[in-house]
Amino acid sequence: MKLEQEKIDALRLLVETEPKNIVILSHTNPDGDALGSSLAWGEALRGKGHKVTCIVPNKYPYYLDWMTGIEQMVIFKSNEEVAIKAAAEADIIFCLDFHTLSRLDEPLSKVIDSNSSAKRVLIDHHLNPSESFDVMFSYPEASSTSYLVCNIIVALWGAESISAAQAEVLYVGMMTDTGNFSFSNLTPTLYRTLAVLAETGINIPQIYNNVYNSFTEGRARLFGYTINRKMRLLRKGTVAYMSLTEEEMRRFWFQQGDSEGFVNYPLTIKKMRMSAIFIEHKDFIRVSLRSRGAVDVNLFAGRYFEGGGHHNAAGGKSFVSMAETIARFEAAVEEFAKEGLL
Ligand code: 5GP
Ligand code: MN
Repeated sequence: MKLEQEKIDALRLLVETEPKNIVILSHTNPDGDALGSSLAWGEALRGKGHKVTCIVPNKYPYYLDWMTGIEQMVIFKSNEEVAIKAAAEADIIFCLDFHTLSRLDEPLSKVIDSNSSAKRVLIDHHLNPSESFDVMFSYPEASSTSYLVCNIIVALWGAESISAAQAEVLYVGMMTDTGNFSFSNLTPTLYRTLAVLAETGINIPQIYNNVYNSFTEGRARLFGYTINRKMRLLRKGTVAYMSLTEEEMRRFWFQQGDSEGFVNYPLTIKKMRMSAIFIEHKDFIRVSLRSRGAVDVNLFAGRYFEGGGHHNAAGGKSFVSMAETIARFEAAVEEFAKEGLL
């Protein structure tokens, strides 16, 4: 990944002139990368004198609530008025860590659409960005948006401009989107970027503990239940799927974010090629997909579950019952395999 100089120049033109009203938006069910990239970029822009509002569609998981500055995040669902006002007044809207306004859900995407005069900038690493932007930092090969934001800040204002607080939240994004630096796209430049963060003196083991060792008892028990009782295998044990109904989650005192990461676990089995989890919500079932190697779950999610994401990590939605969702998944797996895609 190399940031093109003309894009950096275009961005500099936008953010180095007079103070502006700026909105930074990220995706539904904000994760470590969505939050880390938004918080760090917001802080950088505030440092340049801008008025910045960071908006996420809904609440973040409880184990990320220690992140510096997170209390300033405007959660659209619980604070619509503030978000609508900020979006209407914005001179620049930054879209971070998502590639299509449809990932924001209806009311918020309409609010953003209605401000037609704001400049729009995308900073993202998902495949196939769908809207047009005035400046577009779209790098699907980048392992996280936080990594992109870090490099953009370095390109604009130098590594010395990054504070320890910014480094900490950027590290969260880079760590969580790479499964603590275990997935693909672990390039030499990623480690150089990590060195920039480490130079600020951040406590890396503590960040790890804050994120990965801060769950509830209910989450640990739900995890055991899901793997032991709900994991089903297909195609000679090379495809796994799990499902959780609202009733099951209630039984384990479910809190938002508690099922995060479950979908990765079946891939610890040596011959596993693809893993899925179906999580029941009030109006739909959220589908999460993970794969190893050549198996393209971005394609799978787009074809069968109205979604997308990355080659080895994607998601989507299903609007039929759990039983029908599972039947559809099983049929889709067979079709995918028949085409030699699995
Ligand atoms: P997760 O399974 O962690 O929720 O999501 C994995 C990846 O798929 C993320 O990069 C996320 O942005 C993407 N993704 C998840 N759900 C959807 C969806 O409904 N639509 C699209 N386009 N991408 C999704
Ligand atoms: Mn991301």
